[in-house]
Amino acid sequence: MKYLDEYRDARLARGLIADIAKRVSRPWMLMEICGGQTHTLMRYGIDELIPPQIELVHGPGCPVCVTALETVDKAIQIASLPGVTLVSYGDMLRVPGSHSDLFHVKADGGDVRVAYSPMEALKIARANPQRKVVFLGIGFETTAPANAMAVWQARRERLENFSMLASHFLVPPAIRMLLESPANRVQGFIAPGHVCTVMGYWQYDELSRKYGVPIVVGGFEPVDLLEAISMLVVQLEQGRAEAENQYVRSVAYEGNRPAQELMEKVFEVCDRKWRGIGVIPQSGLRLKEEFAAYDAEKVFDVGGTTAEEPVECISALVLQGLKKPVDCPAFAVRCTPETPLGAPMVSGEGACAAYYQYRRPTAYR
Ligand code: SF4
Repeated sequence: MKYLDEYRDARLARGLIADIAKRVSRPWMLMEICGGQTHTLMRYGIDELIPPQIELVHGPGCPVCVTALETVDKAIQIASLPGVTLVSYGDMLRVPGSHSDLFHVKADGGDVRVAYSPMEALKIARANPQRKVVFLGIGFETTAPANAMAVWQARRERLENFSMLASHFLVPPAIRMLLESPANRVQGFIAPGHVCTVMGYWQYDELSRKYGVPIVVGGFEPVDLLEAISMLVVQLEQGRAEAENQYVRSVAYEGNRPAQELMEKVFEVCDRKWRGIGVIPQSGLRLKEEFAAYDAEKVFDVGGTTAEEPVECISALVLQGLKKPVDCPAFAVRCTPETPLGAPMVSGEGACAAYYQYRRPTAYR
């Protein structure tokens, strides 16, 4: 299959691994931002195939993992109201809130439905004018254009029973936060290819220059990631720090301008709380005031909820690359995909779920 088979080619992968081994002369710590990339690295054993001088740590790019506990609690609160249909991506149903999850609301008779796109929520709203339909719109810059389109379309159709609980995150401010942390050990980043498909990678130029750290936009297949690692190692060994693009088949420097323009019409940049990590300034998107009628936080008056993470979960450290899932005492013991204590064990993009699937100590299998 074009654009897939060649990026899973074992011969190409072996060549890249040999090339990395030839070039690396000292230890380097690299971070992939996206949870989808984490899963590819684990599934194909890339972390074990590359030279041991290169350590891979995993970043905060799993949208389900960083969605604040307060947002999950608000979704649960809204979904429990009579006359409300809450529509969500499937992963969010099992994410633990402070006391429950959306799956339990559904089991108790709440109308919670799974969708693959916000447009499905619009369809449900059109077909059920007597119900208030709320879409739980989470994600990074990747999902923001489709969510913006749903709100834009709802206003155009004057669809009064549709709203969105929007919680969007922006990648560059998170990288800046990591680089400014005194605890940071990351020396090079693999930036998320799908986010950069929308936003381009011009923002990473400034980050690379300012912090002296190379950033390479990477794809999601094993050869993509090995090539991105190779490009980072070349820069690090040569003492360069630039933003480069491995994922050229999808990403342009300036990104997708029409998608960005739609996002700018509907959303505005705001401070955003990342689950476990805390508030990162200017790291989120929220609906503009002119779309208040479609903002579920305002429609349902659930703006003031505060919540605390379970003490046992060290996901904040995992998401900042300071610990690995196997360092968590609860990993595969008290925290499993069936009984998750934290979101990274639930999500299909979570680092803890990836380690559980591919790196679980034999004693727990
Ligand atoms: S293994 Fe579970 S408890 Fe530990 S950090 Fe991951 S999600 Fe949290």
